Amino acid sequence: MSTVAPHGLHHVTAIAEDPQRNVDFYAHVLGLRLVKQTVNFDAPETYHLYYGDAAGRPSSLLTFFPWPGVPPGRQGTGLATVTSFSVPEGSLAWWQRRLADRGADADAPRTRDGEDVLVLRDPDGMVLELVAAPGDARSGWDGEASIPSEHAVRGLHAITLSERVLDASAAMLTDLLGMRLRSEDGASARFAMAGGESGTLVDVAASPRDRGLQAGGTVHHVAFRAPDLATMTRWQAELLDSGIDVTDIRDRQYFKSIYFREPGGVLFEIATDEPGFATDEPLLELGRSLKLPPWLEPDREQIAAALPPLRLDATG
Ligand code: ZN
Repeated sequence: MSTVAPHGLHHVTAIAEDPQRNVDFYAHVLGLRLVKQTVNFDAPETYHLYYGDAAGRPSSLLTFFPWPGVPPGRQGTGLATVTSFSVPEGSLAWWQRRLADRGADADAPRTRDGEDVLVLRDPDGMVLELVAAPGDARSGWDGEASIPSEHAVRGLHAITLSERVLDASAAMLTDLLGMRLRSEDGASARFAMAGGESGTLVDVAASPRDRGLQAGGTVHHVAFRAPDLATMTRWQAELLDSGIDVTDIRDRQYFKSIYFREPGGVLFEIATDEPGFATDEPLLELGRSLKLPPWLEPDREQIAAALPPLRLDATG
């Protein structure tokens, strides 16, 4: 039997309030590369900002819809509540000092389930983790001058889904999406794709906490990797056959996508690895200027005029 089997996390997309504050934090405090400055294709009067490693490779990507004036959301069930990044082993003390120096809201590192973890909140209150992940061969982005490359963020490590019940979500992850149950501890479980390395992990934490409210500082959706369009088209048919309400294939310019909800309510996406972020500007220039898909290019002047200007350099 053929099963859907994504080979890792592709990207996580979240909601922020202020685009400048978002760039200042992710590019200059966490040191991710702003790999694309574009608009939300479904709401072109607002930005869509993509951060990742040097090339914006799948599994390194965190993206934001900055919606000025959006009220703060509330973490709770039915949301992806923690986004974890991988950093090199031995880096957490360095990160703790850096985050403290820059006034970031961060806890002291601790050990949890065999992983060394530093929990922090971004300026919108989004919960992030830096995990000292052994054996992560990814190189991250070394373009932020104040971060030595040996401490640079490597990419996504894991995502945590908060659910009221474990079983329904677990069944979708394993039976439909082909993930493996890696560990289970009462009401929480870890699932893995591909080789189970950093960037392929999904944690599900079940609790009777209140339902979350999706707004500022919360995750909008979680995307998984499809190797190519033909494979994703086949998966789309399989999901439909299983009774999942999956969308048509959307052209996201840097990848093609389908969307559906898991039983607890979290919006999932499957996105292709290709064509990637160098499709409309050179690798060296990624993220420096506003890029629009061909169908919005005729409205560039109007779109650009409505967006708040972004300062990309570090303010110190
Ligand atoms: Zn997405």
